[in-house]
Amino acid sequence: QSIKSLLLENIRSIEDFPKPGIVFKDITPLLNETYLLELTSMLLAKPFRGQKIDHVAGLESRGFLFGTNLAQDLHAGFIPIRKPGKLPAETEEVNYELEYGTDSLEIHSDAIKTGAKVLIHDDLIATGGSAKAATDLVKKLGGEIVGYSFVMEISALEGCKKLESIAPCHCLLSV
Ligand code: 5GP
Repeated sequence: QSIKSLLLENIRSIEDFPKPGIVFKDITPLLNETYLLELTSMLLAKPFRGQKIDHVAGLESRGFLFGTNLAQDLHAGFIPIRKPGKLPAETEEVNYELEYGTDSLEIHSDAIKTGAKVLIHDDLIATGGSAKAATDLVKKLGGEIVGYSFVMEISALEGCKKLESIAPCHCLLSV
């Protein structure tokens, strides 16, 4: 528990970012020091060690930060899931609802073989809308979701509840 408190102390709350009224949880201090980077990476991988995982799929862009580390630790490959127009080869796309309006995510069409086991990772889960959209993309390509990994959850928004019927959801830290 004290290790988690140490990590929590190193998440900054930034008021009015990216818009007035929003308090943004900034995880970059966890990347800044080697001991925090190593501790966070180790604890993110721990729940999934020994499981068969073919790919970690990380969400743009903060899901790339720990996502490639996590993939390497779990002896898996890494797949970027990106905002529209960023991936160079042929893509699949999903649209999903935001509080106001819609958004889209893309994946390379050839990134996943049918039946491949995929762990979805992002820095933070709020409503779970992005992770659900990533799930739909992976399934569209024939992949199987074996779990979800987040550095942090905003527990009041109950994002993991949306995902738990699909696969186990691990959030290292909770606010
Ligand atoms: P959701 O789709 O679960 O509502 O929102 C999660 C997505 O929004 C993630 O991709 C996450 O990076 C981003 N996000 C929303 N609020 C925050 C925040 O306060 N801090 C960080 N680091 N990311 C956030």
